[in-house]
Amino acid sequence: MSGIYIHIPFCKQACHYCDFHFSTSINKKSELVNALVKELEFRKDEFKNQVVETIYFGGGTPSLLTIDELRLLIDTVYAHYNVVSNPEITLEANPDDLTNQQINKLANTPINRLSIGVQSFFEKDLKLMNRAHNAEEAKQCLEEATIRFDNISVDLIYGIPGLTNENWLKNIETALSFNIPHISSYALTVEPKTALETFIKKGIVDDVDEEQAQAQFYLLVEELEASGFVHYELSNFGKPGFFSKNNSAYWQGKPYLGIGPSAHSFNGNQRSWNVSNNSKYIKSIDKSILPSETETLTQMDKYNEYVMTGLRTIWGVSIQKVTNEFGDDFTKHLLNQSQLFINQQLLYIDNEILKVTQKGKFLSDGIASELFKVN
Ligand code: SF4
Repeated sequence: MSGIYIHIPFCKQACHYCDFHFSTSINKKSELVNALVKELEFRKDEFKNQVVETIYFGGGTPSLLTIDELRLLIDTVYAHYNVVSNPEITLEANPDDLTNQQINKLANTPINRLSIGVQSFFEKDLKLMNRAHNAEEAKQCLEEATIRFDNISVDLIYGIPGLTNENWLKNIETALSFNIPHISSYALTVEPKTALETFIKKGIVDDVDEEQAQAQFYLLVEELEASGFVHYELSNFGKPGFFSKNNSAYWQGKPYLGIGPSAHSFNGNQRSWNVSNNSKYIKSIDKSILPSETETLTQMDKYNEYVMTGLRTIWGVSIQKVTNEFGDDFTKHLLNQSQLFINQQLLYIDNEILKVTQKGKFLSDGIASELFKVN
């Protein structure tokens, strides 16, 4: 069981908060798609013993690709990899690209899941973040997309400066009104060297407020759980049967192949990442050289990653698995370090599985780092 991630490094414009790898110039789009095809072809042996269950187009903005370009990439995967009969194929898409006509065309491809970057249904928030779409486009695309696709995820951002709890609840209710089965939601974070960081430093935009973010996170959890969603990962909520297979595999430590500039791959022991530069990527792939760096994970790295992802998900951290895979020293460390958080009712152990409590959810990354092993 494994997945293929394909990174499409183009966007119409730069969102002010974003630090992902993308270019706003699309004049190298065809060359890049050809390089993606070539990378898929020459890395096929890395995955010869794997069964591909998911294909994920992420970015950047994959919905900037034409239907023919998407088909070419999917066909290449099918031609060279062992794909299950009904894989989950996700396209990350922005509302301004999802016209009625485009949604209908996409529905006639093997793509069976859309992850739509709505972020907010309020014009003010969209402008502050410099999103390329407006609120009306977000609603219109959801109306059409829900007719043609069953499996849709909507991205929403909370903790936006000026976003009141009342408007945040309206955002959640608007998303729910389209009867979608999955929501991914993230706190707005101020990444270094982004426009948002500059605006905050210059006083043009208010700083993000941790307390506001925390309150909006708990409103989100409450609203979505009351509407039948399972909070299966810190930032992800799905109706039963609609958890993201791609992301769940990633959180459960399954192997994945990352294709394209800046894409990461994992084979169970090593993590590698391609160069985050479109021109360098294209030139190198043209010479059949994979422009990537690799690190081999130590037992300690694997334990730390397992604790981090485990605490973020409903699957938690299995104490038995820690003992079996890492040994008694790691288990002792885990239990000792957890005790303080168990006393504070931020963690609990259920059936030999360590999990965060409702109260500990928002703090799970910070708690996980306290359970890490550093030597
Ligand atoms: S569309 Fe997505 S990847 Fe592109 S700039 Fe905005 S947040 Fe970043």
